[in-house]
Amino acid sequence: MNQPTFVIVGAGQAGARAAMELRRQRFDGRIILIGDEPHLPYERPPLSKQVLWNPEEMQPGILPRGFEREAAIELMTGSAVQMLDVCTRTLTLADGRRVAYDKLLLATGARARRLPLLDSLGAGVHTLRTVDEARALAASLRSTRRVAIVGGGVIGLEVASSAVELGVAATVIEQADEVMARNAPAVLRRYLENAHRQRGVEVRTGCRLVDARRDVDSFVLVLDDGTEVRAETVVYGVGAEPNVELARDAGLAVSSGIVVDANCRTSDGDVFAAGDCACQWNTSEGRHVRRETWENANREAETAASAMLGHTTAPVGVPWFWTDQYGMNIQFAGDMQAPTWLVRGTLDDPAFVLCGLHGDTLTGAVTVNRGQDMRSLKELIAMQATVEAEVLTDSTQNLRALVKRLQETV
Ligand code: FAD
Ligand code: NAP
Repeated sequence: MNQPTFVIVGAGQAGARAAMELRRQRFDGRIILIGDEPHLPYERPPLSKQVLWNPEEMQPGILPRGFEREAAIELMTGSAVQMLDVCTRTLTLADGRRVAYDKLLLATGARARRLPLLDSLGAGVHTLRTVDEARALAASLRSTRRVAIVGGGVIGLEVASSAVELGVAATVIEQADEVMARNAPAVLRRYLENAHRQRGVEVRTGCRLVDARRDVDSFVLVLDDGTEVRAETVVYGVGAEPNVELARDAGLAVSSGIVVDANCRTSDGDVFAAGDCACQWNTSEGRHVRRETWENANREAETAASAMLGHTTAPVGVPWFWTDQYGMNIQFAGDMQAPTWLVRGTLDDPAFVLCGLHGDTLTGAVTVNRGQDMRSLKELIAMQATVEAEVLTDSTQNLRALVKRLQETV
């Protein structure tokens, strides 16, 4: 009997991880991994950090060296998939080639949201999603005195931090009243804004970009308060849009991402989706959720690979992501919308923890240079632990011991 063919579209974090997971789970049919970028699968988190500081340094790939040969993964780079036909179970590539599948994983990720006003200015204006874009930005920063960064989200702040490390002055323009307004609690938003200002970054919050033009040797960005920002390089990071077109045009259910059940199965039984493009059913939250994080891409890739092999996996754990800015490692777990946030330690220390509470229940946590506490905090969040405020804020109380104590009482 012919071996089944599993095809993965998108050779990024989720796609590459799913290919590895299929082999780890001893799938011995064909695996075809198709990506439109010309590179071997690579990690994106270094793009706004190490690649900007050191663009020549080789970045580690997602697949171990030589894995695709040893594990017989048929990797097709530089190949964009243009059409999906779920009736004939066939993909059509941009160059006209066709690829048939028995099971399909869509791991097409997301792309940078465009600002046509800035795109129209041409060379010197950057977005940051791919390694080629990161290298182009790194080259630009090396001949720049000031960089204007539109968007004060994770990309904006990480680029500002990298620019400062490179000795480039930076202005961040954010339309909301605070930076990282989407994914950080208020206490951390203010802390981060201060951290950037202290290092000389000009942070312009509550400002809308209304016009932009190219001057002799710089760009001029005009803000809605009438002021202008001049810079030789412009970067913008104003959010990401999921790549859902293949799924939508094939008639699959799509909302704010490709709709999948808890096992990453789409509305077609032979098609799965994972990573930034997927909107997964979350049983504990009772709704579909799309996340744009490294950990989510890996976890959903593993879930999808299991489901392609006919297995189901454990429900989603506590969501987690991190950012690195000015040598600070900041990790986030759980719900960032908790109404109450307590500080464990003090904001004046280089390391501290923020604990987010709904009533007495720990629902979210942020560690600043305290990654060693993250595992216990995630466990406490997963347990929906009720913890007294005095215990949480007392940094002499051991969190590991607290988890143990609570586990014993359940
Ligand atoms: P991607 O990694 O984007 O991969 C999707 C791939 O599919 C891409 O190569 C795309 O070109 C390809 N593709 C799309 N359509 C097609 C098609 N039709 N045919 C063929 N190929 C196609 N997360 C964190 O938790 N911490 C961090 O510090 C962090 N830093 C980041 C820094 C940057 C600059 C960026 C951009 C992201 C960062 N992230 C971080 C987010 C994390 O990298 C993403 O969530 C993760 O890469 C998503 O994986 P994915 O496989 O879904 O998508
Ligand atoms: P983001 O975190 O959503 O932040 C975008 C920010 O830009 C928001 O604060 C948004 O404000 C603001 N904005 C939108 N339009 C604007 C405009 N016209 N002028 C000024 N500000 C504007 O998105 P991102 O930083 O672009 O990141 C994109 C992707 O990269 C995401 O998938 C992210 O997960 C990933 N990434 C992750 C990390 C990490 O996890 N450490 C690091 C880098 C990148 P509003 O909210 O008001 O719209």
